Formats: sequence, structure tokens, C-alpha cells
Amino acid sequence: MTENKETTKETLNFIEQIVEEDLASGKHQTILTRFPPEPNGYLHIGHAKSICLNFGLAQKYGGKTNLRFDDTNPEKEDVEYVNSIMEDIKWLGFQWEGDHHYASDYFDTLYEYAVKLIKAGKAYVCELTPEEVSEYRGTTTKPGKESPWRNRSIEENLSLFEKMKNGEIEEGKMMLRAKIDMASPNMHMRDPIMYRIRKVSHHRTGDKWNIYPMYDFAHGQSDYIEGITHSICTLEFEIHRPLYDWFLDQIADKDKIRPRQIEFARLNLSYTIMSKRKLLELVEKKVVTGWDDPRMPTISGFRRRGYTPESIRNFADEIGVAKRDGIIDVSLLEYFIRQDLNKNAERRMAVLNPLKVVITNYPENQTDELEAVNNPEDESKGKRKITFSRELYIERDDFMEDPPRKFFRLTVGREVRLRYAYFITCNEVVKDENGEIVELRCTYDPATKGGDSPDGRKVKATLHWVNAREAKDVEVRLYDRLFVKEDPNEVEEGQSFLDNINPDSLKIITGKVEPALTKVMPEEKYQFERLGYFTVDKDSTPEKVVFNRTVTLRDTWAKIKGK
Ligand code: ATP
Ligand code: MG
Repeated sequence: MTENKETTKETLNFIEQIVEEDLASGKHQTILTRFPPEPNGYLHIGHAKSICLNFGLAQKYGGKTNLRFDDTNPEKEDVEYVNSIMEDIKWLGFQWEGDHHYASDYFDTLYEYAVKLIKAGKAYVCELTPEEVSEYRGTTTKPGKESPWRNRSIEENLSLFEKMKNGEIEEGKMMLRAKIDMASPNMHMRDPIMYRIRKVSHHRTGDKWNIYPMYDFAHGQSDYIEGITHSICTLEFEIHRPLYDWFLDQIADKDKIRPRQIEFARLNLSYTIMSKRKLLELVEKKVVTGWDDPRMPTISGFRRRGYTPESIRNFADEIGVAKRDGIIDVSLLEYFIRQDLNKNAERRMAVLNPLKVVITNYPENQTDELEAVNNPEDESKGKRKITFSRELYIERDDFMEDPPRKFFRLTVGREVRLRYAYFITCNEVVKDENGEIVELRCTYDPATKGGDSPDGRKVKATLHWVNAREAKDVEVRLYDRLFVKEDPNEVEEGQSFLDNINPDSLKIITGKVEPALTKVMPEEKYQFERLGYFTVDKDSTPEKVVFNRTVTLRDTWAKIKGK
């Protein structure tokens, strides 16, 4: 029994350990976590990590998770973002408890807390200019100086704060500050700003407020109001924790749950940027087609690209939670989508760079029906019929006129297998006036139907192909990494992250596919044999089918891991 317990303990991460201790000690009967996005952009893969962590923890321990929009900044927020965030969380497979919340729901309560602090002599209205504020703050090595407005009477503070609220004071002229310690070694404790005057409309509270709480004053208190037990956030907030605790010390009721803040390292991915400001810049400068461009690291971008919720959740589980910042190799994420699609995507044949093949010994008006396996990993997916005729397409790369020694695919005088069809031998190359190969003339061996030779004859290559007489054209969007540098934020002097954009991150081509691939719906996923996994784009119509390449077949991660 004890032994068993210890083994499970070892596999717990540090956050799960805290939760288990809190449940075991009776500190909490149940846990309530939250995901608190600021609605100023679309969610990205880093947010997905945080979502999986918060919702996953609650699921594991039978608790619940709130969704709260941190809308304390009136200017930058947008209903479009609120909706996209909810859609993305649901798509990932999670459901928040009850209705979603907004920090702005608590503006009245936060105001009361501020008044309470003023009444306790713990907050004051300060009239320093922004320049003076930073000058008075000191530095990490030099203590700050107290504001001359710090010792106003409680009555004067109350009356000025009310005037600020009522719009009677000009923007920038006054602010409410916590009275803590200008000499604290923690800069966040040097009388931080709690409220500032902003005479702008808020997307939810309209013109009701002329003052808005700072994030640092709103965030911890919002968690407290909702009864959050474990406030999980990223490492940069570790240094804010003493301030959040100080605020709660002033306002918290002894009988109410006090949230415990736990920090973990944010997710960084190679070849990827995660800053919402920079992602917005990509959208606004039309470097990408929108927030859901399949090259974007947004959840909606990954979805459109063809990633599944499972693959993202499995990735988040695999990377776990760390206490120190690091960079995860983007190929690990690719590994998880390959794993998923290998199991679940049906196979089809498509030729993306077609070269015509004429089977000279195949009757002109004949068509053969052959059987192709839909998914070798899943027998229940069955087989489908494909057709073969005198004219086919193969991949241009699969033929070389003067091949190097290690090239085992098609060349003049060599026999190869066409997948699920026959062995063919190339006899002749037809070129146009520029010397470019436009056609191969081959013969087939009827005895090899289905792709097996009756006499045990071996070939060194199996090629994918389509029947040229029935193949349909589709648009195929070949995506590559959006950035050429592992760390896109690493720039030369005078340059920006935009200078690290990969100019070849999207190539649009027309491919030839099995006719079945034109009766598809957006988000359907297929493996194009030997080429990669492809997902039907939302732009796709019955008239013009569009595929996004989700990921190639080559698995660099398995190689790294030695799998
Ligand atoms: P901003 O700079 O606009 O505040 P943000 O990345 O902090 O950007 P939020 O909307 O505030 O975005 O984040 C919501 C939640 O997602 C927060 O709890 C934050 O800690 C978490 N989060 C954001 N980025 C990452 C990341 N890269 N890895 C893990 N968690 C993240
Ligand atoms: Mg934030």
C-alpha cells in the first residue's frame, strides 16, 4: 500500500503534488482552477498548454475550471477574440464550469476593495507624473523615494478617489497607489499603482468607469472572488506573488478560500513566436492570411492545418510542467500529429508533381479495377476500388534518366512496382523541344496484378500513382515553417522578427488525385501515400477542392528519440 503510494507520488508533477497535499490535509474538499485569457488576440499553442494544465488538473481530481476573461484593459479588447477563445477551448475538448466570467464583472467589488484599503490607510491618491513615478521608484540596487502625496488624510484620499471615478479628474493627473514599502527589494512592492484614470469605453461596461484597475490589482482579487483554490500562472508572475499576497492580506475574509498561486515555465517552441503582439502584427501586415492561417501557432491555425485536439493534448501531457524556461523542439509537436494521423487517417493516392506514363502494352480502351487498403494500421477501415488504365501519372521525382547509384526508383530499363497495381518497366523517355521529359513509355506485367510477382521477382521500389484518365485536379497548399530561425526573436541590429520570415513558407500547387478525394468535407484528413498528411481546408468547395499539408511523413523527432 505505502509502496504503491510512493510510486504514484514519483510520477506526479509538482503542481499535482501540491493539489494532492491540499486534498489530503483537508485544506480543500475539491479544487477550482481557472484559465484567465486576456481577450486581445487568438489563443496560441502556449495557451493550449495552460488550458490542458488547468482543465486537466481539475478533471484528474474531480474539480472544476472557470473561464475568466481578463478584460481590465479597455482599449485592446474585442468580442471577436472572446468568441474565438471559447470556440478554441471547446475544440480542445474542455468545458468550463457554468457561465464564463469577466474581470469586469468585479469592477464594483474591486472598487470597494480599493476603498477598504484607503480606509485602512493602505492606499493613497498620488499626483506624480509618470516620469516622476519611475524616478521615485528607484532601481533594483537603489531604494525608491516616498511620494509627497503618500501621507494624505484618509478623507482626502476617499474624496479624490471618488472624483477620479466620477470623471472629475483629467487622465494622467492622479492614480491610486498601494502604500507598501518604497525601499522593498521587490520593485513590485514599491507602492504599485492600483487604479489609473482612463476615459475610454469598455467593451462590456461601456462608459460607466473612468478609472480601471491595473492587472496586478485585479487578477489575484478576481481569483479570490471566484473561490479559485489553485491559481496557476507562468513564471514571470512569481515576483508578483508577494504583492498579490499583500492585497489578499488586506481584504481576504478568514473563512473564505484563499487562492494559492503556483508558477510554471511558459511553453516556448522552436521556429515559433508566441507573443500576441507579434502575431497581431503578422495578421495586420498581411504576412499571413489571418489568425487562423495554417502557418500560425494559434489553436485555430493548427486546427485548420489539420492538427487534432488529441495531438495537442498529448503534446501538452508529454512536455509536462517545468520550473525553468526552455525551448521545446517543434518536431515534438509534429511527432504527435503524425502518431494520431497514422492511426486515424485513411490513405489515398495523389501525385503532386505529375509525370505522364503510357503503358504501351495495355489495351487502349480497357480499365482495371484494383483494391487498395484504406488504412494498414486499422483493418476495420476496409478497402476501396481504384482504377488503372493505359495512361497514368507518377511523381516526377520518382524518375531519373541518369540516376546516381543509390536511386532505386524508376529509370530506363528498370522495373518497379506501382502500389496496389502492377510491376512496370520503363522503356523510353519522350521529351519536348526544350529537352524536358514529358512522358515515359512503359510496359506492365499482367501477371503481377495487385503488386505481387508470381515468380518471386523482386523490385526495389514501390511508387504511388493515379489513373490519368480519371484523376481530378485539386489545389494543394504546401506549408513550411513560418520562420527560418530557431529563435525568430533573434535579430541583427536594426532588424525585426519579420526579417526572419521564411519566404517559402507557402507553395500552392495543383495535384492529381483519386476521384474519391474530391468528395470531401473541410477538416477531413488523409495520408497521401508516400507524401504526408493532408487536411481539407475550409476554403474547399465541391468545385475547387483545397488541401493543406498538415505534416510530412518524415519523422525527425522519432530519429532524435531513437524510436
Ligand atoms: P499578454 O502578454 O497579452 O498578457 P499572455 O501570453 O500572458 O499575453 P494571456 O491571455 O494573459 O496571454 O494568457 C492567458 C493564460 O495563458 C495565462 O494564464 C498565461 O499564463 C497562459 N499562457 C500564455 N502564454 C503561455 C505560454 N507560452 N505557455 C504557457 N502558458 C501561457
Ligand atoms: Mg497575460
